[in-house]
Amino acid sequence: MLNKFISWIREVCPYCHKKMVSYDRGHYHSRACPDGQYKIETHPHLEVEIEYHSAK
Ligand SMILES: [Zn+2]
Repeated sequence: MLNKFISWIREVCPYCHKKMVSYDRGHYHSRACPDGQYKIETHPHLEVEIEYHSAK
């Protein structure tokens, strides 16, 4: 339940509030802001999420 909620929150960039674009990379999944301000990678096999913040 909590994971679903967090995923829903991260459908939108925290900086520009645009809808995140999803990419399926095969062994991991990533979502990125269309302006490149924010990116999140989900690695299910490692149970890890990596966030990238590049907002100025
Ligand atoms: Zn953004």
